[in-house]
Amino acid sequence: MFLKRLDVSGFKSFANKTSVEFVPGVTAVVGPNGSGKSNITEAIRWVLGEQSAKSLRGSKMEDIIFSGSDARKAVNMAEVTLTLDNSDRYIAMDFSEISVTRRVFRSGESEFQLNRQSCRLKDIVDLFMDSGLGKEAYSVIGQGKIDEILNSKAEDKRKIFEEASGVLKYKLRKQAAEKQ
Ligand code: ATP
Ligand code: MG
Repeated sequence: MFLKRLDVSGFKSFANKTSVEFVPGVTAVVGPNGSGKSNITEAIRWVLGEQSAKSLRGSKMEDIIFSGSDARKAVNMAEVTLTLDNSDRYIAMDFSEISVTRRVFRSGESEFQLNRQSCRLKDIVDLFMDSGLGKEAYSVIGQGKIDEILNSKAEDKRKIFEEASGVLKYKLRKQAAEKQ
């Protein structure tokens, strides 16, 4: 499984539809300060379900919608689609390509899609939970994250290992079942 493509439109500095193609191996994104490098990683975390505007450097979710520039008017919707190559069936879905889409409108309306079919945030979180990809997973390591992991409490470190080993999913399901 690997990230194949990211399509971004109206997300932060990406006013126009912008596509980034990834190939297996290492991809480096280079550019001057403020050109949108961090916005690309934020688009990946957002489409995978990030719910905290603060962790996307905003104060409310609307802040991720392109807010206009000298040359362009603001837009009303942000949309991100992440396409994964799943030809090895690493993710438990019988498709060789999986796309995840998220949209948000200024009105506050929002939507998630899996392979272009509407779904819930929970479906996306569940699908990626064991994959090492989800929004909280260690596949996206932001600045300061390594220090945070090293300095975290033993219980929090344990959570990271539980996710990596695939145990966390069952623990959360057990907790949910016990509540009912
Ligand atoms: P650095 O090298 O400094 O880390 P970077 O390439 O990571 O820079 P980003 O932080 O990704 O740059 O991009 C910041 C730019 O995105 C800023 O110019 C900011 O104005 C712009 N930006 C962020 N949110 C929006 C928005 N909602 N609408 C328009 N532009 C936005
Ligand atoms: Mg940056």
